[in-house]
Amino acid sequence: MDQGTRLIHNGHELDPLTGALGVMVYQTSTYYRKVITEVQEYDYSRGGNPTRKALEDTIALLEGGEGGYAFASGMSAISSVLGLLASGDHIIIAEDVYGGSRFVVETFYKRWGLEMTAVNTQDPDNIRRAIRPNTKAVYLESPSNPLLKITDLAACITIARERGLLSIVDNTFMTPYLQRPLELGADIVVHSATKFLGGHSDVISGLAVVKTKDLGRRLYQIQNSFGAVPGPWDAWLVIRGIKTLKVRLEAQQAAAYKLALWLKTRKDVAEVNYPGLPEHPGRDIHVKQASGGGAMLSFKTRTTEQALGFYSKIKLAVAAPSLGGVETIASYPVKMSHINMDETERNRMGITPNLIRIAVGLEAADDLIADFTQALD
Ligand SMILES: *Cc1c(COP(=O)(O)O)cnc(C)c1O
Repeated sequence: MDQGTRLIHNGHELDPLTGALGVMVYQTSTYYRKVITEVQEYDYSRGGNPTRKALEDTIALLEGGEGGYAFASGMSAISSVLGLLASGDHIIIAEDVYGGSRFVVETFYKRWGLEMTAVNTQDPDNIRRAIRPNTKAVYLESPSNPLLKITDLAACITIARERGLLSIVDNTFMTPYLQRPLELGADIVVHSATKFLGGHSDVISGLAVVKTKDLGRRLYQIQNSFGAVPGPWDAWLVIRGIKTLKVRLEAQQAAAYKLALWLKTRKDVAEVNYPGLPEHPGRDIHVKQASGGGAMLSFKTRTTEQALGFYSKIKLAVAAPSLGGVETIASYPVKMSHINMDETERNRMGITPNLIRIAVGLEAADDLIADFTQALD
């Protein structure tokens, strides 16, 4: 079945009790125990809720995994997955992953004895070189944020599997509509559902999908004991968002391509990063593992002053953190997603003060180009 059809027909399209179209919001914290000695599927809502379950089944179906798990945010999904590791373990993490993911490992998990090495995964051999006797996991993201660098997921996952390491992929930027890391051999996929899956900048949510029943059993234990679960309304909003993912993403992607081509023609734009451009580094790898360029791009102006001027002059695009909503969002990586990163390290990676990140929304591309033109001029 086509992935676009699955977005709608996910097994929860009809309410079993009434035939209502869609999933009901089960606004309850607890459930009547029918036989007092017998544990039920729905017992207490931290452990399970039918609305949340519908979202979990949907993301598992879309990513092609054994089980899906919903969380209160992308960060709680990621932190809960990292909870599968133990004190004394070592994790290899792509150096340009989402700032918050690296931060939680470098600060919180470090205090609990987790060791970490950040490597440039554009060269998968860097992973091989970083493996130690206590390495247990590899954490990847492609395309990366905010420079849209491409990592060969299959190559990195193969190295991890050969050495018996868990491979975890953050698939937020691509969504399972464009890229399915489990099909490339990954063990776990994580998402900030706040972004394209929710799709309307109105909910914070996170998801994780596992490849095996055993990983599912272990992650469920963390989900139920940490309890960083979404309420039923938030789960419902993400379920509704997912239904229109295909049309949103296809329109946003087409506009992103137009915008990237136009930015390339500007003399005051020094660099354009968009995986949909034929000349984008790693483009051949990207087209092997994903079915589109996505709706994220970034560019560098020639001066920092021009970049700052852009944010104050844009009228259609909103200067804000986040991405994946219906409105175009222009974020400023050095003062938003990567604010906690050491400045020297940030500059080394190319995340400089003249870098602008755009999450393309559903406005007409020509209107966005007009807005960007007046903001850059
Ligand atoms: C936003 C984001 C996260 C964190 O998700 P929250 O929902 O904000 O907690 C993780 N990874 C990526 C790639 C993101 O864009």
